[in-house]
Amino acid sequence: MFCKNCGKELADGCAICPYCGTQVGDIEYSGKKNDELCTMALVGFILSFFMSVAGLVCSIIGYKKCRNEGLPGKSLALAGIIISAVELGVTLIFGGIGVILFCTQFFWLYMPIMY
Ligand SMILES: [Zn+2]
Repeated sequence: MFCKNCGKELADGCAICPYCGTQVGDIEYSGKKNDELCTMALVGFILSFFMSVAGLVCSIIGYKKCRNEGLPGKSLALAGIIISAVELGVTLIFGGIGVILFCTQFFWLYMPIMY
């Protein structure tokens, strides 16, 4: 692969020529990469509304990728993490209350029989 502007030989997968700074080849590839990273954050965000655990995992992966590579979608991933975490917390609290209520009901139903 050679630079379109200065003609110097470049390493494969190089998006920008290190000699003259021109954007060369593989723009489609880097575009795909960006989409993939944003998709992960987006998927995490959407999943957070339906499946808190899956949404949380996807959002964390998306957030890490976006942060490491300085790409957009970080705030979306962060929103997904917060939504998933809140949802998970609410699920656990209500789940806990449900279990306690169930046990209490069970206790009050069977206590009179035992005596
Ligand atoms: Zn060049």
